[in-house]
Amino acid sequence: MCGSLRLSDAGQKAVLMGWVNRRRDLGNLLFIDVRDRTGITQIVFDKESNAALHEKAGALRNEYVIAAVGTVKKRDANTVNKNIATGEVELVATELRILNESKQPPFLPSDTVLPNEEMRLKYRYLDLRRDAMQFNIEMRHKVAMAIRDYLSSQGFFEIETPMMTRSTPEGARDYLVPSRVQPGMFYALPQSPQLFKQILMISGFDKYFQIVRCFRDEDLRADRQPEFTQIDLEMSYPQPERVWEVVEGFLKAGFKVAGHDIMTPFPRMTYDQAIRLYGSDKPDMRLPAMTDVREVFAPAELEDFASKFRIRKDLPIQLIRIPKAGEISGTERRTIGTYGAFQHVHGPSFVQLMSDPKRFAKDYPALSERVVQFAKVEPDDLWLLVGALSKPEAAVVMEQGLQHFCERCGFLRIDLAQKYATKHGAFVKTGDPGRDFRFLWVTDFPMFEWDKDDNRWNPAHHPFTSLHEEDMAKLEANIDSVHDRKSLLGEIRALAYDVVLNGTELGSGSIRIHRQDIQRKIFRALGMTEEEARSRFGFFLDALEYGTPPHGGIALGLDRIVMILAEADSLREVIPFPKTARAVDLMVDAPTPVSEAQLKELGIVIKR
Ligand code: ASP
Repeated sequence: MCGSLRLSDAGQKAVLMGWVNRRRDLGNLLFIDVRDRTGITQIVFDKESNAALHEKAGALRNEYVIAAVGTVKKRDANTVNKNIATGEVELVATELRILNESKQPPFLPSDTVLPNEEMRLKYRYLDLRRDAMQFNIEMRHKVAMAIRDYLSSQGFFEIETPMMTRSTPEGARDYLVPSRVQPGMFYALPQSPQLFKQILMISGFDKYFQIVRCFRDEDLRADRQPEFTQIDLEMSYPQPERVWEVVEGFLKAGFKVAGHDIMTPFPRMTYDQAIRLYGSDKPDMRLPAMTDVREVFAPAELEDFASKFRIRKDLPIQLIRIPKAGEISGTERRTIGTYGAFQHVHGPSFVQLMSDPKRFAKDYPALSERVVQFAKVEPDDLWLLVGALSKPEAAVVMEQGLQHFCERCGFLRIDLAQKYATKHGAFVKTGDPGRDFRFLWVTDFPMFEWDKDDNRWNPAHHPFTSLHEEDMAKLEANIDSVHDRKSLLGEIRALAYDVVLNGTELGSGSIRIHRQDIQRKIFRALGMTEEEARSRFGFFLDALEYGTPPHGGIALGLDRIVMILAEADSLREVIPFPKTARAVDLMVDAPTPVSEAQLKELGIVIKR
């Protein structure tokens, strides 16, 4: 291979095949760098020793595919190239075959300046020849293999499930495939193998996994693809902890091949704690949590403070702290809260910011001292207090509960963390996996979430998620209140969990419902009639009645994991053939219209 020759090979005969990466013509000497996925070797054509061969090589251009035979030679000390692994040798050619020519490419794999992304995606085959892409795709392969090996070693079977199926329960829009044989009927591409993997548990394959493509027709955000890959698994009889242990095991194996020895088990935190402490269900723990400082106020002090600043004393007064941000000017301080996600979510109209610690210390010297101590503020930290406005300014205020308020604070925390990233340096890799990769299990998610557009409760995960046994009575008491915002459905906790890394959700899963009677109750609580439930999931409800073992599982996004490991800044950098933000494949040019004949066969008429 083009990356394999070393000094110890000097004197040997070798054959190299690959692309012309670069040519340098020094008159009598012609240097051709030949490249394959393993590296680059310099080939020399010397006019004096073989004029005909030298002339033939003169025709070589960038990205021609060649085979060269020659002798490996030690390079002179002054021509050694320390930047490449083969840099101490070169191949002195005795024979050359031009296996194929190439048009002048629109950009070269060896270019240091990248063309724009549209160009890269249109000519993806050239883009994939670049070092960085070769690295990412190799990383993807290695990580996937390590995960497969690990799961297989733990007794999991990789089992395929259909791509042409019917709507699955993840709640996004489906991609549909029309049936020709049964005009007017459609398959749906799976949003996940959810029901199939549960059926596999019913079928006695007690440990299943699949590295599998999932399809969701959602509005694409920067970090989404219409088709993406999940590491999907399911097992029989587990407690949540058993599922976590398996996930920790395969992540450890996957990170290991990328050179990172991560610590397991991961810390755990309930959803409620995550919201209170980080204002997010995917906390980035590389920076300090928020601190509710009300505890250090005497009752009268709190009263006075709350009325003076027009904030609510029944909600936290959150101290947000960004380490090492250092001294910032008054002008800069006044811009806090005017940028980023916080601004976008109407944060400013809900909260009161107290962002000037000096002023605070002047007005409330003793209190300030206590607050700083309580929240462990260091002298170099930027800190501010956030309270919930007692009379929010926005007329659109829907609710101003604990969660709503904490989430606003969470946005502000992240905005500040990003703004002062160069100061606190917490996002810079240190080489210490314990600091670089802050994993976390977030547990006890709510079972239902309120959908304010549809004015109803929806399943927060999917409707096959099991609930905490202790919350069963709440479910029963609120079973017919799907449109009641105030019902206690919102307090029911699911046996659902997410694995989070550095503020990104890597995956979610749950223990499932394995009993028909409970499944019925959940459908009812979701306002689904028996008929509706049957028409969507009938086959599954039938299957549940034939001795279903307790089971549970999880699915993690492989693309995202590889993206983090490759330190890439977009999913498109780790997916060989991705789609754009408009769900277009620029290389094959899809989607496209199809012929009238094809449509006719499918019984489809397009309304223009
Ligand atoms: N099917 C779920 C998802 O894709 C994961 C799971 O519950 O296992 O989010």
